[in-house]
Amino acid sequence: MKRTKIVCTLGPSTDEYEKIIRLLKAGMNVARLNMSHGTLDSHQATLNLVKKARKELGVPCAIMVDTCGPELRIGSFENGKATLKRDQTFIFSTTNLKGNDERVYCGYPKLLEVISPRQKLFANNGLLEFAVVKIENGEIICKVKTGGEFSDHKSISIPHVRLPLPFISEKDEKNIEFAAKNAVEYISASFVSTVNDVKELKDCIKKYHGKQEIISKIESAQGIQNLDKIFDECDGVMVARGDMGTEIHLEDIPSVQKNMILKSLQKGKKVIVATEMLESMIYKIRPTRAETTDVSQAIFDKTDATMLSGETASGLYPVEVVQTMARIINATEKKIDYNEAIEGNVENSKNKLEAISFSACATAKAVGAKAIVCFTENGKTAKAISRFRPQAVILALTHDEFVYNSLSLSWGVLPLLVKKQEELQDMISYAKRTVKRLKLAKVKEKIVVTFGFPTDENCTTNAVNISEIL
Ligand code: PEP
Repeated sequence: MKRTKIVCTLGPSTDEYEKIIRLLKAGMNVARLNMSHGTLDSHQATLNLVKKARKELGVPCAIMVDTCGPELRIGSFENGKATLKRDQTFIFSTTNLKGNDERVYCGYPKLLEVISPRQKLFANNGLLEFAVVKIENGEIICKVKTGGEFSDHKSISIPHVRLPLPFISEKDEKNIEFAAKNAVEYISASFVSTVNDVKELKDCIKKYHGKQEIISKIESAQGIQNLDKIFDECDGVMVARGDMGTEIHLEDIPSVQKNMILKSLQKGKKVIVATEMLESMIYKIRPTRAETTDVSQAIFDKTDATMLSGETASGLYPVEVVQTMARIINATEKKIDYNEAIEGNVENSKNKLEAISFSACATAKAVGAKAIVCFTENGKTAKAISRFRPQAVILALTHDEFVYNSLSLSWGVLPLLVKKQEELQDMISYAKRTVKRLKLAKVKEKIVVTFGFPTDENCTTNAVNISEIL
């Protein structure tokens, strides 16, 4: 079983039931809906397909709604796109018009107040670069520094400028309502820059009676700067390397990524490494050596998940790219002795849940257990155990369908939907039988079981048991 999870962005290349089934079989653990593209109706249709497919296959799969965030998007072009040449003049206009090779609509008049001559402006994840020459009559007049193709509704970014936009736009409020109504497991929030952004999102989720966990996408210099405080409020972070690459120097991304993974492990939060992981597979059946190494580096650093964007959403080989990523993950994980580093994070374990989770991992290591089985009501114990990255498989038994699917993002966790077990003896023998049935351990091998005792008082996890497979 692979420990590191795969997040797949769904889109035109994967909008069929059969494709989703194949993605799940290939190793997709989380289906991501990118709300910057498509309509609520198209996302509803995709979401319904994922829910049907995960049920039919009897496998867990979390659904993640990715917000647009406070981003700037251009309007559309007469021919769907324009081709810009180096050194030509190009205008971003606040007058609503159809774009061409000379100008395009950008409907944010407030932008004129924060932008100034010589400011850099990027589009297409940094592939297009502009330098502002002057601001005149509601237009930003730029010189093209790096040209290329510019197509409808692309986002533009302005490094180091906090845009004069609300963190939750009207459109994103509808996206959050959609996530809550459909009981999706995660919201990944674009352009989180401060802890207040996360608090605002939490309030909005509450307003729509949602229970989604929040993954903060860190993609601005300000977000990186405020990372510690952002961690305190969210459930996990995403190293969103696409937009990040226009905000900070490219050569600084690897160290930011390493630091974000390390801090997530220390703080017990989830972490996803995203963007351009197997980018060349959008058009080709095989990845480059560099991409293969990039994915494996994230695995060596023990990220919870790696993510695919255009590769699965609009690429030519959506299923093959997931199979390739799963192969790289499996091969890399075989080279890692996970037990070696369990103690690494123990000084940060301050509460009862963290202490009992660490004990389960240390006990499993001491007796060479093949699995840590946890009976979990709300998923917290399985997530806390996952944070220590033990060698043993974490088998999470829950009777809650939402928890079952949400656990599929956590590193090393194999969620299983089961009936509630009331008696301690039933729980332990059920754990042993399930481990044997799933071939996670053989006869005479050991497992560790965690549970709350007394079982009839609905206690949180407070006990660790060692059992032998019969
Ligand atoms: C990114 O910028 O790396 C990212 C994941 O965000 P999006 O795909 O929404 O641009």
